[in-house]
Amino acid sequence: MIFYENLFESNKKFFDEFTKKFQQVLSSGWFILGSNIETFQKEFANYHNSKYCIGVASGLDALTLSLIASEIPEGSEVIVPSNTYIATILSILHAKMKPVLVEPDIATYNIDPMKIEEKISSKTRAIMVVHLYGKSCQMDLILQLCKKYNLVLIEDCAQSHGAKFKNKLTGTFGEFGAFSFYPTKNLGALGDAGAVITDSEIFAERLKKLRNYGSSKKYFNDVIGFNSRLDELQAAFLSVKLKYLDEINLHKRKLAKIYLDNLKDDFIKPAVDDDFYDVYHIFNVRHPKRDSLKDYLLKNEILTDIHYPVSPNKQKAMQGIIEGDYPISEEIHTTILSLPCSYGHSEDDIYKVVEVMNKF
Ligand SMILES: *Cc1c(COP(=O)(O)O)cnc(C)c1O
Repeated sequence: MIFYENLFESNKKFFDEFTKKFQQVLSSGWFILGSNIETFQKEFANYHNSKYCIGVASGLDALTLSLIASEIPEGSEVIVPSNTYIATILSILHAKMKPVLVEPDIATYNIDPMKIEEKISSKTRAIMVVHLYGKSCQMDLILQLCKKYNLVLIEDCAQSHGAKFKNKLTGTFGEFGAFSFYPTKNLGALGDAGAVITDSEIFAERLKKLRNYGSSKKYFNDVIGFNSRLDELQAAFLSVKLKYLDEINLHKRKLAKIYLDNLKDDFIKPAVDDDFYDVYHIFNVRHPKRDSLKDYLLKNEILTDIHYPVSPNKQKAMQGIIEGDYPISEEIHTTILSLPCSYGHSEDDIYKVVEVMNKF
């Protein structure tokens, strides 16, 4: 059996270091907002050459708190890709703003920069890009539009730790780079965790208050805040894994290359381009007979996944909130299939998947 993702296998290599960190945190007796989060925040900011990093409880919170910290008014419109994971859209709703969906480019699965401008209105105040599946968006035109219309840029980097566009890391283009460290992400914790990077001291201070009940000094509350802290244990584990992030990404790139070089052309493979350093959070192909391909692979003991089976505009929760048709998103959602491509997989595993797939 070839698993789709096995978090025991993906983390095995780090067990000794995790155990040491666990013992350190346990004996310190300090579990929230201590030295481990300070250290990880510094390391993660340094990795990006950013000035500030603020650890929070999840990727969803990283996005929501970024929107709130930007202090754009409630009711503002926020541009977002129509094929993203639901969390991106939820963050806009939780911040009491209005998501305005823009279709992706079918070749990259990322927001189509050419389709953004027609959706900008007098109420538009931000663009929330998503670097989906580990590929950066094409940022040139997006940055121009942000400048032209004075829009805040928030990057959803939940799937793009270490990914680059023209040699620049995702998360460093906008005012806010929002990350998730959900266990399956390229930089994954052993529970829920997230962070925001920013170069703005004002935004950093606001985020620090927002994550901790709106207080900068214990029991003095300046704004209406949340409880959204990255805990010491997860921060300590993340410091261990951050050292290996580039290695994890290289491993995933090596596996992706096996697929790219060897899968037959019946499968529509991810686009490859010199401007993009992809980290393949998810490696997927498209095929018109996606469901029978998935069944066929399962019969051959190969597990796959679908990211995502239902497009956001078709979700029950979005009835009355998202209007209009999104045919490109729906085409992607009905034809896409995610293949095994994790740090826990070997090159042999991938060659086996290729062999079986090429007989489909
Ligand atoms: C995982 C993910 C999120 C949410 O992160 P959580 O830590 O699960 O809250 C947001 N956006 C995208 C694109 C994601 O993949």
